Amino acid sequence: ANPMVPSAALVASVKAATHDVYDTAEIQRQDAAHYMHPFTDHKALGERGVRVMVRGDGIYLWDSEGNKILDGMSGLWCVNVGYGRTSISDAVYRQMQTLSFYNSFFNTTNVPATRLAALLVEISPPQFNHVFFTGSGSEANDTNLRMVRRYWDLKGFPNRHTIISRYNAYHGSTVAGAALGGMAGMHEQGGMIPGIEHIGQPNYLENGSGMSADEFGIVAAGWLETKILEVGADKVAAFIGEPVQGAGGVIIPPATYWPEIERICDKYDVLLIADEVICGFGRLGTWFGSELMQIKPDLITFAKGVTSGYVPLGGVLVGDRVADVLIEEGGDFNHGFTYSGHPVACAAALENIRILIDERLVQQVAQDTGPYLKEKFEALMDHPLVGYADTCGFVAGLNLVRKKAEAVHDCEFFEPDHGVGMLCRGYMFANGIIMRAVGDRMIIAPPLVMTRAQIDEMIFKIRYCLEATLIDLQ
Ligand code: PLP
Repeated sequence: ANPMVPSAALVASVKAATHDVYDTAEIQRQDAAHYMHPFTDHKALGERGVRVMVRGDGIYLWDSEGNKILDGMSGLWCVNVGYGRTSISDAVYRQMQTLSFYNSFFNTTNVPATRLAALLVEISPPQFNHVFFTGSGSEANDTNLRMVRRYWDLKGFPNRHTIISRYNAYHGSTVAGAALGGMAGMHEQGGMIPGIEHIGQPNYLENGSGMSADEFGIVAAGWLETKILEVGADKVAAFIGEPVQGAGGVIIPPATYWPEIERICDKYDVLLIADEVICGFGRLGTWFGSELMQIKPDLITFAKGVTSGYVPLGGVLVGDRVADVLIEEGGDFNHGFTYSGHPVACAAALENIRILIDERLVQQVAQDTGPYLKEKFEALMDHPLVGYADTCGFVAGLNLVRKKAEAVHDCEFFEPDHGVGMLCRGYMFANGIIMRAVGDRMIIAPPLVMTRAQIDEMIFKIRYCLEATLIDLQ
């Protein structure tokens, strides 16, 4: 390839793309040849080619072949206010025309970044008065790692550098994000660094046999205390966890879990980080999941729902305990990204949050559509394939099982390599609904704008695809 002279065919196809004319086969060919996708086995994809998404409106997507798809996953857990919001694109357009970029280094700011910081403080729990912006959730967790270590250095405890996380957690794909996360497949591929430890996750279905959910919550939180004592309390900087684990399979902890985690953190003076990249901005029917779990974290990671994914933005809400030390005693914090506080991203976030407030979407999930989704989704347990189903706000998951039982722990599961979850996901995809499979747990995180009628439509499609999966297995 000669970069000075692109081929006439390529120039023509770029021009066509900018004019919303798509030749699916051509895009698929270029894609297979040149685009290395995240978390994708390209060889396994083979001849099938990728699906090309071209348009979104509300809770629906359209692909390049004209298929309408109900997006049960809000893109990647992020499109909280739904697709096609012209007030966000207008805000972005205006900001780009006024000031497309300026950084926040060297004693400068821009209006949307500062306004957004003030607004986030207003909607977050009272211990938060400061915000650090990043471009993504992964960068925000890298920021957390550096911030908590800096905090303990400044406090005179330079040995307090270990961060405890959980197996199967997802905290991003940068090196610190992957290491903080608990995905073995990521650790094996250059994604582990020293000073990070993991404990078991509060997965009642997998680990809670013989106990009530509340008893199990206390037991699972106790693993943190065991780990702190093993590492040495004087070496532990922080514990990090998602209020409800998302990518790990929508693992909804028992009500007793988080308060007990917080009690243990307090007992050993360990900082508490809530990774709210998924749970923030109304996903659980509260602005932040920590509020639902009744805990007061020292740091909150956010991204995704802050802009509903319209443009990339992430960050850390920095609680007073950490902010006071960093600001009063820290001098320069030698950390930041070109796009920290990007004016266009912050303008999108301001408009996105205005929508969440004006349309009362958080309250709607708490009081109306969330409880409705719970009723309808958990009723799927009457299907012969569904052994267990649970919801929390607008996240939900169900477990496909070989044989159901009265007590969830007595269900007979499929062998992991049977691929039943992927089979079911295939039926969903082919029938115009996006649902994700984590092993044999099928999960959703729909846009918060989803109405009761649309919940009915989604449940109808899910039932249809469960039935198709069942027939396929017979
Ligand atoms: N933390 C959690 C809980 C996430 O779910 C994700 C992404 O899915 C991240 C961090 C990483 O965010 P990003 O992909 O924006 O880097």
